[in-house]
Formats: sequence, structure tokens, C-alpha cells
Amino acid sequence: MKPIFHPYLVNKAHGDPVLYIDFLFDRRAILFDLGDISAVSPKKLLRITDIFISHTHMDHFFGFDHLLRILLGRDKHIRIFGPPGILDNVSGKLHGYTWNLVENYENNLIFEVTEVHGEYLLKNTFSCKEGFRPLSPYPEKVPAEECLLDTLTFQVKSVCLDHFTPCLAFCLQEKSHLNVNKVKLQEMGFPVGPWLKQLKDAIRAEKPDDTLLTIPLNEKGAVTDTSGGGKTERQGDEEMRECGDEEMGRRGDRETEGRGDINTDMNRGTGMSVSTGTDLSSGMSRERKEPLSRLKSIVDVSRGQKIVYVVDSAYTDSNREKVLAMAEGGDYFFCEAAFLEEDRDRAAQRSHLTAHQAGLLAQDARVRKLITFHFSPRYHGSYHLLVEEAMRTFKGHLP
Ligand SMILES: [Zn+2]
Ligand SMILES: [Zn+2]
Repeated sequence: MKPIFHPYLVNKAHGDPVLYIDFLFDRRAILFDLGDISAVSPKKLLRITDIFISHTHMDHFFGFDHLLRILLGRDKHIRIFGPPGILDNVSGKLHGYTWNLVENYENNLIFEVTEVHGEYLLKNTFSCKEGFRPLSPYPEKVPAEECLLDTLTFQVKSVCLDHFTPCLAFCLQEKSHLNVNKVKLQEMGFPVGPWLKQLKDAIRAEKPDDTLLTIPLNEKGAVTDTSGGGKTERQGDEEMRECGDEEMGRRGDRETEGRGDINTDMNRGTGMSVSTGTDLSSGMSRERKEPLSRLKSIVDVSRGQKIVYVVDSAYTDSNREKVLAMAEGGDYFFCEAAFLEEDRDRAAQRSHLTAHQAGLLAQDARVRKLITFHFSPRYHGSYHLLVEEAMRTFKGHLP
């Protein structure tokens, strides 16, 4: 299974918490927490669409100004989700500057901020052209849904933990994982191309079986075998990704980084040529319509990927229960491990987890992979002890 989400911690395990999650098939990335982001390239920052803030202790929100500096003057709509107080926090950051010149900017930067309060949400919007004054004098109050964000392909949920202040933990869940079966694709004689993304979207949206999809047989990315006949057997997964999904989202996008020239990648070592919108044999456009029922067999459906992010929380029964319910069976469990178990009293005083406690949560939630971070600087030079302690517990051996 080719993972759709590519998460990585921006800083070292003892640095500010920021989890950057890149999306394989979409022109987007999301952040869990917004500590120091100076290590992230502007190109990557420009891909961010949604930011989820656990709480606004400085190490989790320090990067806002850096992001604002990069985004200013661009047409961007960024959603920010956070705990009670996040509206004031964002407003306070924005109003630390003078905005008398922005009304003439050609582009508009908009922050749509959602404050999470258990049963309800408070929302407001801050627009650059309005000098970042809030759109409404009072935030809009709406009932909370099960998910903070619910798209065709993924959901983000949160639970509120106790850190002597509300602290949100997050779960990113792919709804189901769809993978193009290239053998079946070849057997049916269809080309790779952006139409495969439309096919996946139709399956995700549960469109009726008689829905007709157009397969543009000569579009950019369609493969013509010039090696003397036969199917495209040497075509690799990477090429499938580039032509089947990536190209569609990235074509014409000048803000995001490219991932290699598609034609070049397609030609590399394959013995195949790629048409560029013109039928090489006739010079005419060709396409074919097929019902969704016939095309479904091209796509394998499996369980979606799940990423869970937990920081700054006490090891209480209530916190533990919420984390286990959310993290159950997760693929990646990013969990703070601030202290060693021998310092558990200190951890409790500061409302943080020990490495052993992180290991217990990971083991009891039966996650596949535990990644510990947010180590206290008191262990400078011995951070490996925190990792070892967490992993010993995760694998079933008490320290
Ligand atoms: Zn904190
Ligand atoms: Zn922290």
C-alpha cells in the first residue's frame, strides 16, 4: 500500500513540536502544532491548508509570525483550529503589526479560525484586506460535529485533554485507501492519466454504477508503447503516481514545488513515449466513455491510514481513556515523552507524560508505530534513554 500521508517532525525530538503532514495526491499539507518552523522551506509552507493547534503555550505557537511573513501578499485561505482562547491568540498575533497599506494588495490572505469547545465551536475570520480585523464583532457559534474537518478523502478529529489548560490531541484518518491496480489497468487497455483521480473520487463519493467516466486516451500522460507492441509492463509505481494523480493537482500551479518533469519521468528507462494532448497517429482527439461499474475493478480498496498526535497531557484516567479511544489501531502514534519514569512526579507536576507512559498508551492502543518527541532539555545528551524507555514498554517489557 502506497501511503497517502507523509508525516514528519519538523524539529529534533527536543525541539518545538510541529508535525508536518504532506499529502501524496493533493496539493496540500497540514500541520499539527505551530512551534518553530524556520526549518521548513517556504515552498512547503505554501502548501499548508489547515493548522491544528493543541494549545498555545509558546513552544506550540511560536511559528505563527514566521508563517504570516511567508503568506502575506498571497491569495491564501488558511484554516486554524485550536482550543478555547485561540481566537484571541490569533487576533493578538495579527494585531501586533500595522496594516495601513494592505487594502491595496492585489491578493488576499484569509485566516478562518475555529475555537473548539466540546459541544460547540466558535468561528471567526480575519482578512488581510480588512487589516485583519475580525469579520464579525462576535464569533459565530455553531454545534460541534464529530470531525473538525471532513473531506472526500480524510477526516480530522480531536479530543480535549487536561494539561492544566485545555490541550487538543488530533487524529488524521484516511477514509479508505484506494490504489490503482496497474495489472488490471493494463489488461483493460486503459492509459494512466488524471482520469484515474476522477475515478477514485467517483468511488469515494459512492456515485451510481451507471455513472459514465470519460477516458481521454490521448491526454498528457497517456502511454504509447514504442517498444514493438505489448503492454506497459515496465511502467513503475512512481510513474503511475505522477501521471495518475499528481499531475492533475499540480498542473499550472506556480506556488508549489514540482516533483520532476512528468514526460521525462515517463520516458526514463521505459522504452515508451508520452503523448502530449495530440493523437500521434491521427492528430485527432480520442476519448472513451465507460460506466463506473466496469472501472471499479481497476481500483483496490483497503483500510485508510491513521495518524495520531498527542502532546502535553497528564497521565490521568480521563486523558488516558480519551487517547486510547482515539489512537486505537493507529499507523503512526506521535506522542510526547517529556520525562523519564524515574521523574514521574515532576512530569505530573508539569502535566506531561513520561516515556514509559507514552509506551503504555501506544501498547494499549495497539498502534503500529510509536514516535516519541518533546523531550525535556534536562536530559540533554541522554535523549536516547527516553526513546529506549518508551520502546521497552511499547514492546511489552516494563522498565
Ligand atoms: Zn504545554
Ligand atoms: Zn509543550
